[in-house]
Amino acid sequence: MVNIESVHIKGLAKTVGFDLCGVARCEKLTFNNNALNSWLEKGYDSSLEYMSRNVDKRCDVRLMVEGAKTVIVCAVSYKSVVSDGYAEDDGCKIASYACNKDYHKTIKKMLKQLLKELKVKYPTLNGRVFVDSAPIFEKQYAVNAGLGWIGRQSLLITPEYGSYVLLGELVVDAYADNYDQPLQGVGCGECRRCMEACPNGAIVAPMTINTSRCISCHTIEQQPTSEIDLHGWIFGCDECQSCCPYNQKAAYHNNTLFDPIFNPRDISPTDWAAMSAKEFEARMGTTPLKRSGLERIKMNIKK
Ligand code: SF4
Ligand code: SF4
Repeated sequence: MVNIESVHIKGLAKTVGFDLCGVARCEKLTFNNNALNSWLEKGYDSSLEYMSRNVDKRCDVRLMVEGAKTVIVCAVSYKSVVSDGYAEDDGCKIASYACNKDYHKTIKKMLKQLLKELKVKYPTLNGRVFVDSAPIFEKQYAVNAGLGWIGRQSLLITPEYGSYVLLGELVVDAYADNYDQPLQGVGCGECRRCMEACPNGAIVAPMTINTSRCISCHTIEQQPTSEIDLHGWIFGCDECQSCCPYNQKAAYHNNTLFDPIFNPRDISPTDWAAMSAKEFEARMGTTPLKRSGLERIKMNIKK
């Protein structure tokens, strides 16, 4: 198998709708392995039990894809007016990604199209796509692929689009002719805005989230508890993103597949309380909100 041309990969990634694409080697992420183990030892995974499973695979994609040589990391912006943040008294706040059609299927389709286009030039190439579907330390592979750095709120920050990006990876069984390097001379600097903005102090140290205090985890992943104030968030939380200077200066998204379907500011707590399952399905049935379901969302409003 000949080496695949990095420039060709990046050109195709643009044509299938991604804003950013970088190419990294499949290798063991030793630093992340140690950091994850230390985070787990402190119990910061709280009820996210899946985080302690498959730690070895999470830190080495070669254990999941036989013959894996190269990880192609792609990102697409979804920043919209919803991402700009909410007023203090807005009652039913929703993370901006959740106002769009569920990204898993859309990005998977784009990555499969990328593989198909690559196979035109490299017919024997094999690959597997990842969109949150299996444990993989995608943020670190994105850093290695030169897309950005991991910010103090633990998300990937890209210089062009901030953290309002969705990631997907195509892992292939061929080497590339050229690999990207982590960006130099970029980072959070002295900024600590996200740590100060988190309403529940969930960012306990740079790049360290105590999920037992994180609103996003509480509203989506975990059973609701009475111990945590949701501060008006009913699904997800963008507080540590809307305050970030890189997000504030980023342009809105280009790819219309990531247009928001609704604006949470148009739906009052009374509207939510009166919403029927049928209306919820019609208005939000294709969004990530469906995962929680209407009853769970109504429960979050009461908190
Ligand atoms: S998502 Fe919200 S609660 Fe969680 S760390 Fe960010 S600001 Fe804090
Ligand atoms: S708000 Fe500041 S510290 Fe937090 S991720 Fe953005 S640049 Fe980094």
